Amino acid sequence: MPVVDPVYCPLCATRLVPRTAHGAERIACPACDFVHFEDPKLAVGVLVTNDQRELLYTKRNHEPLMGTWAFPSGFVDRGEDVRAAARREVEEETGLLVELDGLVDVYSRDRDPVVYLVFDAHPVGGRLQPGPEAQAVRFFAAAALPPPAFPFDREIVEAWEIRRR
Ligand SMILES: [Zn+2]
Repeated sequence: MPVVDPVYCPLCATRLVPRTAHGAERIACPACDFVHFEDPKLAVGVLVTNDQRELLYTKRNHEPLMGTWAFPSGFVDRGEDVRAAARREVEEETGLLVELDGLVDVYSRDRDPVVYLVFDAHPVGGRLQPGPEAQAVRFFAAAALPPPAFPFDREIVEAWEIRRR
C-alpha cells in the first residue's frame, strides 16, 4: 500500500524538503518547525482453527500476491479497535464470525512500515464463503498447508503449530 508524503507544510504552506531531524532523514519545513513523522502501518492477521484443528486460508483476490493462499489479514483503520479489525477481516474475507483466543505474536522488521499483529481464533458462527477480497476460502490440515506467501508466514505457522498442541 503506497504511503504518500505531504508536499506542503500543513502549518505555513511552504514546500517541504528532506533534512535530518530528530535523528533521522525526514521531510520537514524550511520555514517553520514542522517535521513530518512517518508512522508505522498496523496490520492484523488471523489464524482461525476449526474443530478438526485445521487452519483457515483465503485465496487472495487482490494484490499483492493475488491468487496465493494466505491467512485472513488486512490493515487496521485509524481509531479502530485492533481486535475488532481482526474479527472484521475474517468476516469480510471468509464469512465466518470468530472469537479471538489470543495474540500469537507481533511481527516487524527494519525499514518495513508495516507492523503485523497475528491473533489466533476459532469460529463461533457465520457461513464459510469467499467475500469480495477472496477467490476461495477453505481450511487446510496441518500436514497439507499451502506454501508460505508472505515474509513472516513460515514463523507464524510454526507459532501456530506450537500453540495448537
Ligand atoms: Zn512550515
